[in-house]
Amino acid sequence: MQDTYRHKGLRRRLVDELQTMGIQDEKVLQAIATVPRHFFFERTFVQFAYENAAYPIDKNQTISQPYTVAFQTTLLQVKKREKILEVGTGSGYQAAVLGVLGARVYSVERIKSLYQSAKVLFEALGMRNVRNYYRDGHKGMGEFAPFDKILVTAAAKEIPIKLLEQLKIGGFLVIPVGKGRQQQMLRIQKTSEDNEYIEENFGGFSFVPMLDGREV
Ligand code: SAH
Repeated sequence: MQDTYRHKGLRRRLVDELQTMGIQDEKVLQAIATVPRHFFFERTFVQFAYENAAYPIDKNQTISQPYTVAFQTTLLQVKKREKILEVGTGSGYQAAVLGVLGARVYSVERIKSLYQSAKVLFEALGMRNVRNYYRDGHKGMGEFAPFDKILVTAAAKEIPIKLLEQLKIGGFLVIPVGKGRQQQMLRIQKTSEDNEYIEENFGGFSFVPMLDGREV
């Protein structure tokens, strides 16, 4: 796969569009301008890689809309070297955006083939600060906890308690929560060891469901 001047031009146009839609964080916009989103696409849809829309990937899953990726990434306020857990690797695009921002990324995926193709991509892109695992993200990753930030990119019916437990004090969990077709984008900050949190709601988004267990 190649990343050409044409692709870079398409990314600049996408970044302009995201800016018009209200994304202001310069580092986030720069990361979107850097990551070759077309690498993360199914061949059938690759011509749409720089449209601001979600597209199907393998196994009935989707690569999130660039606006959603930019929005969630802005909410995380990523700083270099921070340890971030992502639940729902999918194509790997969101994890790559976090990687470009200099985070140490641990991304988990419950579908084996998606896990495998993302692994190949992170290696091809030389992203040594992005590691991915074949796991059910409801449990988090106890062995690498606590995390500065946790990002969930699938719709949770409720907030998984393990993810709150695995946050540092002052850390954020960004997660779409809800039982219907739309979920509310929540940012939950852990403020003390005694289960004290600040919750903010950033409105409606639509994600594929967060499911239990693993799948081949
Ligand atoms: N961040 C992804 C979005 C993929 S869609 C991207 O940039 O492409 C959400 C993904 O979450 C799907 O691949 C789905 O299989 C995965 N997922 C759903 N429930 C999960 C769980 N319990 N643990 C880990 N991954 C999960």
